[in-house]
Amino acid sequence: MRLLVLGRSGQVATELARLSGEGHKIRCLGRDEADLSQPEAAMEAVRRALDAFRPEAVINAAAWTAVDAAEAQKDTARALNAEAPSALARLAAEAGLPFVQISTDYVFDGAGEAPFATDAATAPLGTYGRTKLSGEEGVAGAANPAGWAVLRTSWVFSAHGTNFVKTMLRLGAERDELRVVADQVGGPTPAAAIARACVTIAETLAADPGRSGIYHFSGVPDTSWACFAREIMVQAKLDCRIEEIPSTDYPTPATRPLNSRLDCRSTEAVFGLARPDWRAGLDRVLTELEATP
Ligand code: NDP
Repeated sequence: MRLLVLGRSGQVATELARLSGEGHKIRCLGRDEADLSQPEAAMEAVRRALDAFRPEAVINAAAWTAVDAAEAQKDTARALNAEAPSALARLAAEAGLPFVQISTDYVFDGAGEAPFATDAATAPLGTYGRTKLSGEEGVAGAANPAGWAVLRTSWVFSAHGTNFVKTMLRLGAERDELRVVADQVGGPTPAAAIARACVTIAETLAADPGRSGIYHFSGVPDTSWACFAREIMVQAKLDCRIEEIPSTDYPTPATRPLNSRLDCRSTEAVFGLARPDWRAGLDRVLTELEATP
């Protein structure tokens, strides 16, 4: 499939670019070509890329992902996470192309312990979640007859960029003990699995736009950050003890949801995408990091 991807060096964008060799033609647009903090000007660049590359679908893997910094930079977060996806969705609809938007567990307030259904009430706790939710609404509102999907995921990790796994590896090599939050529970998700999921969804939408909607996709089993950290230390053979702490002992500018569990059943039923085992994904990421330190 020919795919236009917004984002180039991000975790998911990098994994999407890697699928180029697997029968797909993928053109990634980085911020140097389309700066989504200026959505209107960026859409001109996207239009040119659509004309030149002639994709069969568009995937938006670009976002403002700095959750705490979003509290201080609300306007830029809104431009990237709300205005840009809405404009991209309209552009894809005009061009008759399916559109896939990646979103987040942070659209929920994290109450309770049950996994959130795709139609559960949203109530973001911070600017990041609020702007991502506006982006979702813009994508759904474009009502793209060629098909659209919002894929909510959580706790993304990979061998590149900044993420929890890389932070734990660095700190675990420096210290004997780390204090890690144990009362936030969710599904760590390998970026590689999200990239494949986006392509499968784009292919399905191209064949059947009636599958449009909001979907969930996160790694299995659900776990806490502390248990995730412990597994990282075990797999990386780092001698670092993980002490469990409550979120209240680790204050951050943005409040995180305590319950990030996502009910992913419709994603498996509609697209045949089972939740990826994050422990196996972690093993692959560690192998990749060993090969390219
Ligand atoms: P990263 O933070 O790794 O990458 C961000 C991407 O956004 C990069 O490709 C970057 O472009 C692009 N970007 C940032 N600023 C601009 C800009 N001004 N103009 C154009 N592009 C810009 O993101 P992830 O891969 O981790 O996230 C992918 C998706 O998953 C996002 O929608 C995110 O909200 C969602 N998500 C992420 C989670 C996580 O834990 N990281 C959790 C849940 C959902 P460039 O390549 O040019 O640098």
